[in-house]
Amino acid sequence: MPAAYDHYKKIPNLPAKISSKKKKPKIVALVDEDNCTGCQACVPFCPVDCIELVPREKYDTPIPPVQIRFNECIGCSICAHVCEQLAWFAIDMLKVPEFEADYGIQLTDTMDPPYGVVTAE
Ligand code: SF4
Ligand code: SF4
Repeated sequence: MPAAYDHYKKIPNLPAKISSKKKKPKIVALVDEDNCTGCQACVPFCPVDCIELVPREKYDTPIPPVQIRFNECIGCSICAHVCEQLAWFAIDMLKVPEFEADYGIQLTDTMDPPYGVVTAE
């Protein structure tokens, strides 16, 4: 079997329906915005539809990178696999306690607020 076929076999299926977070996950996705091409290949694969374009005001570029609404993410890692197979390595999966400490953001058992509670001064 051709190598390219094997490569694409690793791509997950698109979600049959969009679900939503039920409790705080153990890991969360974080996009390395400097490494993201903004191709949006990962966007339709997210089972909770929590990947979006960074607001255009943040970067002076025609195609902005994507970002995660952290507090809606269920930590499934699908976006990281899709990025790895179809684009780069622009998404890291971080342990939630480390993410919360490093970025000053508290995640909750609900999806509100979408980006988590900012705890950093
Ligand atoms: S697939 Fe990777 S490079 Fe493309 S938008 Fe998603 S995170 Fe960025
Ligand atoms: S890990 Fe990625 S695909 Fe899964 S819920 Fe979070 S952002 Fe969506």
